[in-house]
Amino acid sequence: MTITRRKILAGLGASAGLAAAGPVWSATQLGEMRIDTLSDGNLVLPGEFVFGPMPQDALTPILERYGLSRDSLTPECNLTLLRDGERVVLFDAGSGPDFQPSAGKLMAAFDAIDLSPEDVTHVVMTHAHPDHIWGLLDDFGDPLFSEAAHLIGATELDYWMDDATIDSIGAARQAFAVGAQRRLEAISDRITTFTDGEEILPGVLAHASFGHTPGHMSFELRNGSEGLMVVGDAIGNHHVAFAQPGWPSGSDQDAETAAATRLALFDRITADDMRLIGFHLPGGLGRVDRQGDGYVFIGEDA
Ligand SMILES: [Zn+2]
Repeated sequence: MTITRRKILAGLGASAGLAAAGPVWSATQLGEMRIDTLSDGNLVLPGEFVFGPMPQDALTPILERYGLSRDSLTPECNLTLLRDGERVVLFDAGSGPDFQPSAGKLMAAFDAIDLSPEDVTHVVMTHAHPDHIWGLLDDFGDPLFSEAAHLIGATELDYWMDDATIDSIGAARQAFAVGAQRRLEAISDRITTFTDGEEILPGVLAHASFGHTPGHMSFELRNGSEGLMVVGDAIGNHHVAFAQPGWPSGSDQDAETAAATRLALFDRITADDMRLIGFHLPGGLGRVDRQGDGYVFIGEDA
């Protein structure tokens, strides 16, 4: 499996004192839609957070095949940017400055393509975990994408805005709940909600893909017979999620529902011969091949 990447650095980082620009993974064109994946850096996670509930013996050969450590994972965070001449649509908002020091690098990627947050017309959220929405606010706690409409699934919004969630979510994710509520409240006057099956923007269809979170949404971008699925964290990594999509993952809030969702998404993507972009997949964009009982991610350049 070869993953090719082209980093556009736009000359930044050449002079001392400037942080190196975050990479832009050059992506693809779908009809009028230009689609790029932008890096927000990466996360550092204890392996247990993902691998904990999996059959450990059967896991070992998969970890070996992908050169992964059982102890720690460093998944990339890749946002999807869709531009069609009228709209500048950002799928998720990244981590912002307050989650992990290795993440929150989105503005460097924006600089590299000469885009500013005010240019964004729509922020479309897959779900409200920290690496996806803590970047909604700037350093002063004001909306960073100040000119944008903000769209989120109705089930997802209700879940995180419910005060009971902070008590029910479990100690490991309590900070996620507090953080999500604060940020979603700060943009509440800009939020529009949607439900399963809605065409939320021209050529952008919402699909319920619950399980990773209670209201997680994926987005089908379509131009005639050509489709591309933005899966967010419904397919959350390029290794175990592909090799054994039916296994429970510790990173999913409802592991059983998430596994059923993953299997259904793979069915849909392969049956329709679609490509996909996953938030934590290397470079973001790629396609799916069958391999044995499972699948394999084939990363793609432009
Ligand atoms: Zn994530």
